[in-house]
Amino acid sequence: MKPSPTDTLCTRCGLCCDGSLFADVELANGDEASALEVMGLEIEDADKDGGGLLLQPCGALKGRRCRIYPHRPDCCRTFACRLLQEVELGAVGVERAKEKIAEALKRIERVKELVVQLGTGDERLPLTEHCAEALALSEAADPAMNRKRAELQAAMTAVERLLQATFLGG
Ligand code: SF4
Ligand code: SF4
Repeated sequence: MKPSPTDTLCTRCGLCCDGSLFADVELANGDEASALEVMGLEIEDADKDGGGLLLQPCGALKGRRCRIYPHRPDCCRTFACRLLQEVELGAVGVERAKEKIAEALKRIERVKELVVQLGTGDERLPLTEHCAEALALSEAADPAMNRKRAELQAAMTAVERLLQATFLGG
């Protein structure tokens, strides 16, 4: 049987789980939140209207795969990014989609390298916050560091545009 686009693409991507696209995902109800908490995942605002927020990077992500896949919440079951939708509609081929994912991962990797070179940042944060923290904490550094900061800012802006256009739409 031919693998589905989800099997082929999501297992080499994980950007909607690792904090690159989202800072959190909204849960449907308290039962869902409790079940995920029992599995050791971090939930925020669990008492407010509905089920709370599953924080990202998601603790259930192992490599690029969900380790609780059969038990993942509704929001994860129903989400399909723009790229996945385009592949399912036949507007983008699977090979082209793989290239787009590889390009996004490569650029994100570069952003993370620059954050490490600045010597700051908490990698448990979503990508944008991780980057913003690194930039804030490394302010008033020497000229070489300032060039690195400018490189990080430019790389992050480019990544945000790419993620928006490819995975979120518009
Ligand atoms: S961002 Fe899209 S392709 Fe990547 S894992 Fe999520 S749904 Fe799949
Ligand atoms: S529960 Fe699984 S599918 Fe949902 S965000 Fe976490 S890793 Fe991704």
